[in-house]
Amino acid sequence: MKTVTAAGLFSMAVLFVHTATAGSFPTDVPALGYSPANMDRQVDPRRDFYRYAAGSWLRRTEIPASDPDIGGFRLLFHTLNDQLLKLIRASADAPADARDPQQQQVGDFYRAAMNTQRLDALGRQPLDRDLEAIDEFAGAEGLGRLAAQLQLGYGSSPLLNAAVGPDQKQSSMNVLYLGTGERTLNQDEYAKPDGQRIRELYLDYISGMFRALGDTPAQASASARTVLAIEAELAAAELTLVQRADPSANYHKLTLAQAQALLPGIDLRAFLGGLGVVPPETALVPDPAGLRALQKVVAQRSAADLRTLLRWHVLSTRVSTLGQPWYGLNQTFSLRRQGLEAAEPREQEVAEALGGQLFHPLSQLYVRAYFPERTRRDITEMVGHIKDEFALRLRTNRWLDEPTRRAALDKLGKLDVAVGYPEQWMDFSSVEIRPDDYFGNVRRIDNFLQRRQLVRVGQPVTIERFDDPTGTTPISVNAAYNPQRNDVDITAAIVQPPFYVPGADAAVNYCTIGAVIGHELTHGFDSQGRQYGPAGNLRDWWTPQATAAFEKRTAVLVDQYSRYEILPGLMHNGRLTLTENTADLGGITLAHAALQRYLAKHPLSTMDGLDADQRCFVAWAQMWAYKGRSARLRMLVENDYHAISSVRAFAPLMHLDAFHKAFGTRQGDPMWRAPEERVTIW
Ligand SMILES: [Zn+2]
Repeated sequence: MKTVTAAGLFSMAVLFVHTATAGSFPTDVPALGYSPANMDRQVDPRRDFYRYAAGSWLRRTEIPASDPDIGGFRLLFHTLNDQLLKLIRASADAPADARDPQQQQVGDFYRAAMNTQRLDALGRQPLDRDLEAIDEFAGAEGLGRLAAQLQLGYGSSPLLNAAVGPDQKQSSMNVLYLGTGERTLNQDEYAKPDGQRIRELYLDYISGMFRALGDTPAQASASARTVLAIEAELAAAELTLVQRADPSANYHKLTLAQAQALLPGIDLRAFLGGLGVVPPETALVPDPAGLRALQKVVAQRSAADLRTLLRWHVLSTRVSTLGQPWYGLNQTFSLRRQGLEAAEPREQEVAEALGGQLFHPLSQLYVRAYFPERTRRDITEMVGHIKDEFALRLRTNRWLDEPTRRAALDKLGKLDVAVGYPEQWMDFSSVEIRPDDYFGNVRRIDNFLQRRQLVRVGQPVTIERFDDPTGTTPISVNAAYNPQRNDVDITAAIVQPPFYVPGADAAVNYCTIGAVIGHELTHGFDSQGRQYGPAGNLRDWWTPQATAAFEKRTAVLVDQYSRYEILPGLMHNGRLTLTENTADLGGITLAHAALQRYLAKHPLSTMDGLDADQRCFVAWAQMWAYKGRSARLRMLVENDYHAISSVRAFAPLMHLDAFHKAFGTRQGDPMWRAPEERVTIW
């Protein structure tokens, strides 16, 4: 999972997995991580390989009441949260004079967040200052300043937002990005017919929240309809997820005057001035239609409607830091939306909030306590093996022509991989964290993070690793390729079971964490990553012949995945999931090939009745063993660039000759794919 540095709202994500919320550790869920006990040997692997590999686990596993799904990632989230909570509680309990700066910030953040009595007593007071500023807005003038104030205090606004990141075509320079904001619902939930249930829940939620602020029921329900209508109008105009995945198509460098012309209703200079940004000559606008739609809203809606939109933003963005009744209303909405039976314990939620806010201070504590240098060395060594394998296969690849092959080898040679944590930690010491001010703590952190990036407009890029709280910090269960830096971060948190077991059977470790590493490396060469050169600049380095050969292969994957039905009538979107499916195929191909090289030097015997290749493929499939609630599956199918885990478990394997050989599949078997229909990309 990865957001490129220019903030999630504008750039393309190349992610290994979605960040998800995690609940308390469900001790009754059987562990994942390779185990023959999780197989079901009654099932014929040639018929249903997923159930053969993981059927016993699937049979014994129920989705816990407070979880939307269960699988390797969710289980590791729970393990990680337990680890983090130990560190957080110890920080909160330590005597003030015995704490280091990270423990002070982490411990006091936790204490403030857990003091719900105080949050209830404060009521709406923390919001009052911003609500008053919004109330003063009378139309026409002042939206630029207001948008800046909201972005600095809340991390974003529903109006215009600024972000900073490398110029897609000159990756050594930071430039200004302009775009619209984020919303509560996903893009298609605002429009599609089967989103009606969620839209009604959302209307209830908004009006309840406004009533709790003191609005009359009539006002509150009118306001809810206004918010939904404006958000739906903006969502309809913006790029779809599939469109966002094409960086060349979304590269629009505009002069500031051109950008202003898209959105005359918001004074750009006032906006930038409010953010403390010296206006640059140009800005990148990935989604001009989004800004035009925002202009239409600003021009046509009354000042009262715009105030309603802004009030909703302030209230909904900070609801987790408020007391009752807002907190409870949000929880109810969230449970109903996801079809959950119970909420996760508050402590867990606070641990997650800490991981997204004080991500480097908490990561520092984590790495010290839970990330052995030995693991870092072993994984770094594995990275070397997988990368060597990739280079070797590029050299002998049959469909790349010579110029493209040479360029690909050059790009791979320059691809840097970091394991665990950054060499340099971000310095959060200027952020004041108080033990009695949850709202203020979050606001000060957001303000710090916003200002930290905004001052970089027009500055040369300085490379920072593991610095993205929506992608890879050391405590994200994740690994990510960043196309603008041509590098991969593999976090400390992911190198644990079920993805990696120190010292375990090499067949298993290659085809779990090794495949994850391979997956990330090939992201530099998927339909999105291949648009960037070795220095992270958007430019076409492929010959037309190589592009055609690549697209011929990816078209097969689009077709294959589009045929999987996830819920009755709900088909996978092969186009949306193409980059990730290409990376899954590349990942397991490289891992299996690297394993062969290892086996040539260190033969492995048959264990549990399985030879090394069989264990490799069973371990891969078990890594993706998964159960999800319908609401979760629907949400993922429509919004996730990854295929559903239970599909990832077997779909890429069907392209590997070695898989068919290992389990003796034959024509007519459901797991069979004729050699001419198998695709080898990397
Ligand atoms: Zn990925």
